[in-house]
Amino acid sequence: MNVRDSEQVAQTFTEAGYTLTQDEFEADAILVNTCSVRDQAEQKAIGKMGHMGSHRQKKPHVVYGFMGCMAQSRGPELFKKVPHLDVVVGTQKYHKVFEYVDKILKNRLERRMDELKLSMSGESICDVEEEKGSQNTIKDHLPKDYQATAFVSIMQGCNMNCSYCIVPDTRGKERGRPIPDIVKEVEQLAAKGVKEVTLLGQIVNLYGRTEFDRIEGKSPFVQLLEAVHAIEGIKRIRFTSPHPIGYRQDLIDAFCYLPKLVSHIHFPMQSGSDRILKLMRRPYKNQKFIDICKAMKEARPDLAITTDIIVGFPGETEEDFEQTVQCVKELEFDNCFVFRYSQRINTPAAEMEEQLPEQVKEERNQRLLEVVNELAQRKNHALVGSTQEVLIEGPSKSNKETLSGRTPQNKIVIIEGDAERMTGQILRVKIESSTGFTLYGIPELTEETTA
Ligand code: SF4
Repeated sequence: MNVRDSEQVAQTFTEAGYTLTQDEFEADAILVNTCSVRDQAEQKAIGKMGHMGSHRQKKPHVVYGFMGCMAQSRGPELFKKVPHLDVVVGTQKYHKVFEYVDKILKNRLERRMDELKLSMSGESICDVEEEKGSQNTIKDHLPKDYQATAFVSIMQGCNMNCSYCIVPDTRGKERGRPIPDIVKEVEQLAAKGVKEVTLLGQIVNLYGRTEFDRIEGKSPFVQLLEAVHAIEGIKRIRFTSPHPIGYRQDLIDAFCYLPKLVSHIHFPMQSGSDRILKLMRRPYKNQKFIDICKAMKEARPDLAITTDIIVGFPGETEEDFEQTVQCVKELEFDNCFVFRYSQRINTPAAEMEEQLPEQVKEERNQRLLEVVNELAQRKNHALVGSTQEVLIEGPSKSNKETLSGRTPQNKIVIIEGDAERMTGQILRVKIESSTGFTLYGIPELTEETTA
């Protein structure tokens, strides 16, 4: 979601004639989009911003800004932590970032030209207000060299109340975009050659529940899936992340009659212990989560499921942890992102007694990772010798000489080939080998691959 928000901000700058650079030494404005999910991420962002302040020595006009979740939750306090900071913009104001930065930058450059003594005082801007309709502002995309896939933000906010999570504070209440607006955005992406869209929301399956009606027993989310499915040129649809609450039969059924829905869901489990789920204020039992996974696998027998799990939540006993391990083994996830519990200020879990020592969290993290990695690697290895349908996304990040793509199950496949010609194609690829999390293959010869 942060990547998508950053893209929106970047797009507003390029539209106004600015050039993007990844090189902080070149930049006239340095913006950091921040995450508050873990304390470590906040500390890293503050540290990095502090370090980058040195660019002012050579370029006194440089504008520094924090945006996103940490900006939202900490607001003006950040100016004390980072004295050279100019702009703090919250999660409902991404569309204002350009205006604020451009204004300060132009002021400073004009003052330099007039040979006025540069004074930065009184220039800082903090905007962390709520804004009605702000969910509709994340809708533009940057042109890219290779674009087979795109993220589409369909909603903002979350009405849940998980005791460890700061998102309801930083992102506000659930607010969905209208279906016609989302369809228009996806149609524009399809016209640019995008083949796969990933619909994004904090609880994506609850999209529109407070604004739009169920129609013929179908939730607004399923209605949206049907509308996106009908768009010509779009071959694959993904979404992230769903929640067990509101994961109803209409969504399970959609996997039977909407073939463009890929055979993969990322479905956060968080814990396999009912006692811990309750402490986490996740209002369902683990059995419900298991039942949904099983129903989904019946609807789509080749479905891959990945998940998020928190270990070392306050009060987690060895028995609770073991229930999580057993559930991972039972459901045989294709991959899990395992997080050590991290105390977030202003969350109920941070105040709970029985916080666990870091050593215990780390030990459980490692034990669970062993199980997760063994499962993931076994599953990937079993694909060696099979033929997979791979959407080629462009040059591989780790080796630009090769191409990277994904199977419907979201497995990364590396092939050799020509990025110009093959990006955006869905190829049948014979899997030759696996190195745990990555598959390597050779495309079957077709007119397209040989052209
Ligand atoms: S569902 Fe829970 S963990 Fe997810 S964003 Fe909402 S409050 Fe946070």
